[in-house]
Amino acid sequence: MKTQARVVVIGGGVVGCSVLYHLTKAGWKDVVLVERDILTSGSTWHAAGGFHTLNGDPNVAKLQGYTIALYNELEQISGQACGLHRSGGLILADTPERMEWLKMAHARARYLGLETEIISMAEAKKMHPLLEEKHFVGAMIDAADGNLDPEGTTHAYAKSARINGAEIYQDTKVEELKHRPDGTWDVITNKGNIHAEHVVNCGGLWAREVGRMVGIELPVLAMEHMYLVTDEMPEVVAYNKERGHELPHIIDFKSEIYMRQERSGMVLGTYERACVPWSPKNTPWTFGRELLQPDLDRIAPNLELGYKHFPALANAGIKRVINGPFTFTPDGNPIVGPVQGVRNFWLACGVMAGFSQGGGVGLALSQWMVNGDPGFDVWAMDCARFGEWATRTYTNEKVRENYSRRFSIRFPNEELPAARPQQTTALYDVMLSQGAVMGDSWGLETPLWFAPKGVEPKDIVSFRRSNDFPHVKAEVLATRNGVGVTEIANFAKYRFTGPGAEAFLSRMMTNKMPKTGRIILTPMLNPAGKLIGDFTIAKASGECFYMWGSSQAQKYHMRWFEQHLPEDGSVQIHRYDMGLVGLSIAGPKSRDVLQQLVDEDVSNAAFKFMDHRSMEVAHCPALINRVTYTGDLGYEIWVTPEYQRRLYQEIMRAGAEHGIVNFGMRALLSMRLEKNFPTWFRELRPIYGGFEAGMDRFIDLTKNDFVGRDAAMEEKRSGGKLRRVSMIVDAGDADVLGDEPIWHKGKVVGWVTSGGFAHYVNKSMAQGYVPKDLAGETAEGAFEIEIIGENRKATIITEPPFDPEGKRMRG
Ligand SMILES: Cc1cc2nc3c(=O)[nH]c(=O)nc-3n(C[C@H](O)[C@H](O)[C@H](O)COP(=O)(O)OP(=O)(O)OC[C@H]3O[C@@H](n4cnc5c(N)ncnc54)[C@H](O)[C@@H]3O)c2cc1C
Repeated sequence: MKTQARVVVIGGGVVGCSVLYHLTKAGWKDVVLVERDILTSGSTWHAAGGFHTLNGDPNVAKLQGYTIALYNELEQISGQACGLHRSGGLILADTPERMEWLKMAHARARYLGLETEIISMAEAKKMHPLLEEKHFVGAMIDAADGNLDPEGTTHAYAKSARINGAEIYQDTKVEELKHRPDGTWDVITNKGNIHAEHVVNCGGLWAREVGRMVGIELPVLAMEHMYLVTDEMPEVVAYNKERGHELPHIIDFKSEIYMRQERSGMVLGTYERACVPWSPKNTPWTFGRELLQPDLDRIAPNLELGYKHFPALANAGIKRVINGPFTFTPDGNPIVGPVQGVRNFWLACGVMAGFSQGGGVGLALSQWMVNGDPGFDVWAMDCARFGEWATRTYTNEKVRENYSRRFSIRFPNEELPAARPQQTTALYDVMLSQGAVMGDSWGLETPLWFAPKGVEPKDIVSFRRSNDFPHVKAEVLATRNGVGVTEIANFAKYRFTGPGAEAFLSRMMTNKMPKTGRIILTPMLNPAGKLIGDFTIAKASGECFYMWGSSQAQKYHMRWFEQHLPEDGSVQIHRYDMGLVGLSIAGPKSRDVLQQLVDEDVSNAAFKFMDHRSMEVAHCPALINRVTYTGDLGYEIWVTPEYQRRLYQEIMRAGAEHGIVNFGMRALLSMRLEKNFPTWFRELRPIYGGFEAGMDRFIDLTKNDFVGRDAAMEEKRSGGKLRRVSMIVDAGDADVLGDEPIWHKGKVVGWVTSGGFAHYVNKSMAQGYVPKDLAGETAEGAFEIEIIGENRKATIITEPPFDPEGKRMRG
């Protein structure tokens, strides 16, 4: 066994072997994999081996497409068969809502380059005669679906990695991980030690235990999962004989069953509601290649329905029932990437669909390690997306919710109830008592909208406009015509201090740092010139800067800052998290309200747009910014949590004579739309360049050197490929949700990033990306956006429809 290696990958399941292979493919040959038993000994060996491209996140769907396409390459390199059956698949819709969902998935597949097709039930029946079509309303074909041999595939990865120079040590257990001061690792195994630059946790069922070796608790939980294999079925034999090929895969959302052919019978698995976690706290090291006790009673409701939907199954004998554990994260997607605060420690864990996702995970992680960037938009599986609030018990509740809803629709306005409320501000009960409908924003309860007296504070879930529509409109109109107040505790807040703070921020950000008492907006780029952040920065004094950004990206950003901090200790970063909370007041009367709460002059001359002050507001020590995301006259007022209640009460008291209203996140997002403001993680993501995203004003190529400057200069010269555009949509009763294709002259040319109804200007709006050469096509109806299967005319606008000159926010 080597005693020195660049990378030690812990775990020889399908994910570890994929990571190992991809590292060698990316050029790192001095890499080893350590497996405590034999390869596939975790959840991998007993998997059903199915693969598909379907995923709620388009970027993960794309990586699933990559994984599935990779298997032929692996077979060629390794000479090891993966046992591929590329049978294609059918996804069955039992309700009109599910059909709408399929139409949206199909629309998205168009710009992702995935092969899907919507078909009638008559056509579906022809393809899969075992189904009873009266239970369904329509179907989608996913041509990439299929299944494989889990052992063969894992060995194909392993052999390919070995051919490229990697070494694999089986029967070798990692028992301890010791961090050296230089950031490298001593990997202590029962067969000796390896000194490694990097360690990758691919521990699968033991991912938590490996995490604990470095002092972290990963949001991962294993669930029991059952599938059964039938005896030979005459219907299957007849089908194969007649058609000369296998039956396609099936996903039946109603019975929560997936199904495929296995020899001359069927494999049928369930995601049952009455799901059961396995080993909630610790995975025993003694657990090996054994199965769990099947419990058919638990899946009886699914089987009963399944037998109605596929009557031939009812007569088939059951040859075997497999019950095995595999891991999930709270949102069902993997956790991948470098861990903030633990240098050179990487994760590829919580992969619940190793045969759909393992290749994509390996590719992204290897590029991240070798090039410093995953090379794709991997936010949906970035381990930084979970905060400290994703505790073990939180994870347990969320994973059970996620598992039991695996085949349920998640509507865009649907807030899932498990593990809530996890974090609340001091205003939580006050907001609820005023009719707030709450949403979960990075683990924090945040008002979405307010139900007036007599209206039930509850969303009716839908893909279309819903019951909140008139109430959000009322909040927007009252704010734009008078004044509104909203909670903004769910922003990320940071403080940078020290003699090196300004130089550091200036090197990280594209814009010039502000003068004392002023604010700037600035993107942050990676070396490839892609957007990795978008912030508001205020200079409080020579060595003190405050910064606000996306709450969801707090750990993502902290990880980046920590990687770039100067080693001389000249910069300190404080992430406030919930240590600083806020309220924003906006609208033409907001200054009058503020003036009543302070004894300083806040007239336009004394407190200008983009000014920052430390001030007493309503007796509370506060930081105050003259800027709001509404694009209106307004202020953000930041206080420590113990003052928030008082601040709110005083704002409401002072605002009463001006008719102040509460407004929620949905009104805020509606108001930003009519200002053409982009949002982080929708319009602004690491797949877009700063100029493509229209952030030109905030990128100063003439200032000091900054990360991504060379690439930004090149992008400016070439113009990049895409352009962010705002559009007015000729919508019906449904607005865009995001991820819809944009059509131009009968071809899909781009995609929607976000949108909705802009209530003040009374228009349906969308933002998205199109090729730069098309961004100037402003003729009315030059584009179409596919909304729930219907193409609706869309027109690019070059100016925000609300206050294009910005007079309101500056006035
Ligand atoms: C019943 C069932 C059906 C499934 N069906 C499908 C399907 O149809 N399609 C699909 O894509 N997925 C399916 N899955 C899920 C799939 O099995 C997992 O996504 C996949 O196996 C995850 O692989 P992994 O490498 O992350 O983890 P694992 O397979 O658990 O591998 C982790 C490895 O790490 C090793 N290890 C852990 N700690 C240490 C240590 N300290 N030192 C050394 N080695 C260590 C373990 O021994 C183990 O071999 C199914 C799972 C089950 C249980």
